[in-house]
Amino acid sequence: MNLLIAIVLAVFSFSSQSEQANGGTADSASPRFEVIVLGRAQDGGLPHLGCTRSCCINARKTGRLETPACLGVRDLETGRLLLLEATPRIEHQVGLLHELTGSSGKPRKPVDGILLTHAHIGHYAGLIQLGREVASTKATPVWATPRLCDFLRTNGPWSQLVELNQIELNEIAPGTTDGVTTPQPFEPLPGLRVEAFRVPHRDEFSDTVAYKLRGPLKTVLFCPDVDRWDAHDGLLEKLLEGVDVAYVDATFYDGRELPGRNILEVPHPPMIRTMELLEAVGRETPGRVRFIHLNHTNPALNDQDLQDTIRARGFPVAEVGERIAI
Ligand SMILES: [Zn+2]
Ligand SMILES: [Zn+2]
Ligand SMILES: [Zn+2]
Repeated sequence: MNLLIAIVLAVFSFSSQSEQANGGTADSASPRFEVIVLGRAQDGGLPHLGCTRSCCINARKTGRLETPACLGVRDLETGRLLLLEATPRIEHQVGLLHELTGSSGKPRKPVDGILLTHAHIGHYAGLIQLGREVASTKATPVWATPRLCDFLRTNGPWSQLVELNQIELNEIAPGTTDGVTTPQPFEPLPGLRVEAFRVPHRDEFSDTVAYKLRGPLKTVLFCPDVDRWDAHDGLLEKLLEGVDVAYVDATFYDGRELPGRNILEVPHPPMIRTMELLEAVGRETPGRVRFIHLNHTNPALNDQDLQDTIRARGFPVAEVGERIAI
């Protein structure tokens, strides 16, 4: 009996020492998932159809490819995979996800689920590759807002994916950034807690959300498209609340890429405005806010010196292949 007590005390004392060594229980949680950047360009990617400026002429010459904004998630315990967005380059991006995670042998189920932010082509049009003519997947779960689910259910060719049960729609209940509506969390992979927040954007066919992905260790925000940060007070703060790493809309740099147009009238906050608003965040926690969804003309996608300057202010441009353990 005394021996048992001694063992219990020894184990207890060992575990509290190791907690102290790791800076307490909160920090000693281990990651269960990894988030991987699979694409970082705006919907049209680079090279961009029809562009005859140097950005795309050079890319066509050298074979450089930048695919639309997309994240992958891997469950480190089960190997299950998720995609955030089904972009027109889904084949390339899933191939990259499989390569980076050592996954194979999933011809009819290349990923275990897909989360969509909205119905602009760079974000959902890749779903078509799940249909009869290509992968013909079996009931791949897709999470989206009720309005986007309704759009997919009632419009061809997407409706055929639903009718043939190649995708299985799951309606999410997003919250609002003014705090009036709290999001209803869901788990697209067991243990991965996801919350969606509505964001202002050109909502023709569907509304638009940003996602917070919460693992046991860290939380990642994915907000590839937003029209403005000043739609109401506290919008950006609410999105960044509790977030360790944020991937945010960086469609345009400062307007030089849109000759003849006033950047203030163009939707999407320019990167220079985001950096100004978050200057203290960049200084105090460099790398916490990272740029994604860059237009083919954005100098921050094409100019290494500018990328270095932005990074020195604490705001790196996302790199394809970078991983965050959460
Ligand atoms: Zn977009
Ligand atoms: Zn271009
Ligand atoms: Zn959009």
